[in-house]
Amino acid sequence: MKDIATPNRTKEILETYGFSFKKSLGQNFLIDVNILKNIVYHAGLTKRTGVIEVGPGIGALTEQIAREAGQVVSFEIDGRLLPVLEDTLSPYPNVKIIHQDILEADLNAVMEQYFTDVDEVVVVANLPYYVTTPIILKFLMSKVPIERLVIMMQKEVADRITASPGTKAYGSLSIAIQYYMDAEVAMIVPKTVFMPQPNVESAVIRLSRKTEAPVEVIDEDFLFEVSRGSFVQRRKTILNNLQTSLPNGKEKKDTILEAFEKTGIDPGRRGETLTIEEFGRLANALYPDFHRPQK
Ligand code: SAM
Repeated sequence: MKDIATPNRTKEILETYGFSFKKSLGQNFLIDVNILKNIVYHAGLTKRTGVIEVGPGIGALTEQIAREAGQVVSFEIDGRLLPVLEDTLSPYPNVKIIHQDILEADLNAVMEQYFTDVDEVVVVANLPYYVTTPIILKFLMSKVPIERLVIMMQKEVADRITASPGTKAYGSLSIAIQYYMDAEVAMIVPKTVFMPQPNVESAVIRLSRKTEAPVEVIDEDFLFEVSRGSFVQRRKTILNNLQTSLPNGKEKKDTILEAFEKTGIDPGRRGETLTIEEFGRLANALYPDFHRPQK
């Protein structure tokens, strides 16, 4: 069967439907079949895998996923693409397109409706770059049992997500994601394989669910609050940042210092040097005095 993603076929489809790209929706379509096959390879799909895709566009990646996976559910926000997808994906009965903003989607309902007969659920997507982080966090925070995410995004965000302590790119985003997932860059992707070409370089990352949390925490949200608060001003010490970010932190400096003492972490360090495990221990020690009561 002819691939959707060749430059010629893509142009033909766009012309047939008089489709014009919307920059505001992050519409940069892939026109390189090898890159698409490589993304699918990294996703490790079998006929027992269910896939959630975000933003099928004209179906370039969806098609390659559908050939390998059992069931594909793909969310597209742009209604103009629905008739296109109905046409291009007609050979693939295992694809269900849902016309919805992924951020509004009820993922638990999707699992119940489409994925009761698969062994695992994986997210595969060439993400719309304007909304990369909220989409990833939605998948992780929703607690839906997703085994892996193999997703394309701007390289700069990929670097932050996969960063190790002690590097410039390491920050609260690295911690929020690596708390749940092992993260690695699977491939770097040049601008030339997109239509239209984006302004930035891209990368595909692979996030795989950790079998065990890296640290036992009393409250995950509080861990993320402490880690975010520790990076407000990267050049400042973690003590300084926490005094500003924790409730009444300035007045309760001694209480904060006690938490450092208890955990054996030097308050003069910068946030970027702490591992997730250290952030977890620190958050647990700060929790009794600084967590905000649930509303
Ligand atoms: N998968 C196609 C490909 O690789 O060629 C298109 C990828 S393009 C980078 C992103 C797609 O996401 C576009 O089709 C866009 O309309 C869609 N999109 C943008 N925001 C979305 C959202 N919040 N929810 C669902 N789809 C969205």
